[in-house]
Amino acid sequence: MQNIINGKWVDASDKSTMDIINPYTGKKIDSVPNMTPKDVSRAVEYAKKAQKTWKDVPVHKKVKILQEFLNLVDAHKDELAKTLSQETGKPITQAYAEIGNIRIAFEAFMEMSKHLYGNTIPAGTEAGQEYTLQFTVREPLGVMVAIIPFNFPCDLFDQKVAPAILAGNTIIVKPPHQNPLTLIKLTALLHEAGLPKGVVQVLTGDGNKTGAPLSQHPDVHGITFTGSTAVGRSIYSNAASHLAHVALELGGNDAFIVLKDADIDLAIEEMISGRMYNTGQVCCASKRFIVDKSVLNEFETKAIERIKKLVIGNPADKKTDIGTLVTLSACEKAQKQIQNVVNQGGRIIYGGNAKGAVLEPTIITDIPRTADVAKDDEIFAPVVSIIPFDTEEEAIDIANQSNYGLSGCVFTKNMNKAFKICAQLECGGTVINGSSFHRSFEMPFGGYKYSGLGTEGVMSTFDAVTRTKTVTLKNVLK
Ligand code: NAD
Repeated sequence: MQNIINGKWVDASDKSTMDIINPYTGKKIDSVPNMTPKDVSRAVEYAKKAQKTWKDVPVHKKVKILQEFLNLVDAHKDELAKTLSQETGKPITQAYAEIGNIRIAFEAFMEMSKHLYGNTIPAGTEAGQEYTLQFTVREPLGVMVAIIPFNFPCDLFDQKVAPAILAGNTIIVKPPHQNPLTLIKLTALLHEAGLPKGVVQVLTGDGNKTGAPLSQHPDVHGITFTGSTAVGRSIYSNAASHLAHVALELGGNDAFIVLKDADIDLAIEEMISGRMYNTGQVCCASKRFIVDKSVLNEFETKAIERIKKLVIGNPADKKTDIGTLVTLSACEKAQKQIQNVVNQGGRIIYGGNAKGAVLEPTIITDIPRTADVAKDDEIFAPVVSIIPFDTEEEAIDIANQSNYGLSGCVFTKNMNKAFKICAQLECGGTVINGSSFHRSFEMPFGGYKYSGLGTEGVMSTFDAVTRTKTVTLKNVLK
């Protein structure tokens, strides 16, 4: 499938391509261009040109185009969900859910875009300014780039593209290299809906060849990135060279604290949704299960019973709960990480085996707090890593010993204690009696420490995709 630059279907200028593989069958689905730095420069030129007129298109007209886009998404939902499931190994029911989210997210951003008000600063707040009025307006950043990870490509397309273009920016989308097809299709639907050429372009390729030049280009004024901390750091440093605005949503190793008075049945259900969804490949999935020793046995026994009921295998089957990891090599990496946990003192009590890119849900217990997984080793797979504790102070200490700080959660019937623990957790989102896997489109979602910079969501993204201009009316009140 070709890319879209300035409204036209194109190949890479050097004709190079990348194969897109279905991780369940191991078969090639399609191939896409591996775009070059020269292609990046061309796309940026078109984005600059298009932005000059797009910024002046009134919001109500932009909204109308996006409403038509949503109608097209509805009409193509079966094809989009099938593509997303096939290229990602995502269970088909979860792929439908992600396609369904496009309307929810776009409509919320469309509504918010009608309310991007400025401020008026009253005259006379400082001596000598009695006759002067000042007000603020929001202006777009200009050309933006969205670099998107493999796990929820459509959700992140929504979070980045909708606010950027509604605020008058143009944007170049760099889809994940493993599974770019659904995002190319969405970009095509935006054009079919009437979006002018050059406003949204899509460039596929690998991180170094296509992604890095996008973040290095001096005419890119804003970069919104979701992905790993390592790549986030390199983008941040590239952006510094030309002072581009950056928003970074990075990795996580979220704590799931179970106190001795917790409702264990509830904790188990939340462990299933919060760790097994998307086959464990979720930034804010609960990844470190920090469990009071007095309820450890009950937690382990019930976790095994419940995980046994999950349906594993063919992502195309509506009954499947656990699909494949995104690639065979992602599965091999997760297996090595599991072995490392065992080498460092953990004990596997369920699962641990893989067939192709399908990794059995795995439970590892008795993990010492010194193990890598208890700190910064993020396992992007359906793996429940249990770290037992004796005192609540110790639990909080283990939770905070990670350099990551995306989200965290605590299970207890004592609300005072729950609030106190949430206040002590060093992370951007906290959940009481639910897993850390909670992201609504409205909330400002983002991490502390190595988990990112800034927040994303209907409440906050418009601040990241606009800048403020002050207009001063000097002596207007004289
Ligand atoms: P990744 O960092 O490997 O890749 C993300 C994107 O960056 C892809 O499009 C990739 O092609 C591109 N890329 C790779 N190298 C690049 C470079 N040098 N310059 C520019 N672009 C480059 O991440 P991934 O494996 O796709 O996703 C998993 C990671 O993303 C996990 O760490 C997960 O926690 C994190 N994540 C975070 C959030 C969040 O909101 N905080 C959400 C989803 C995923």
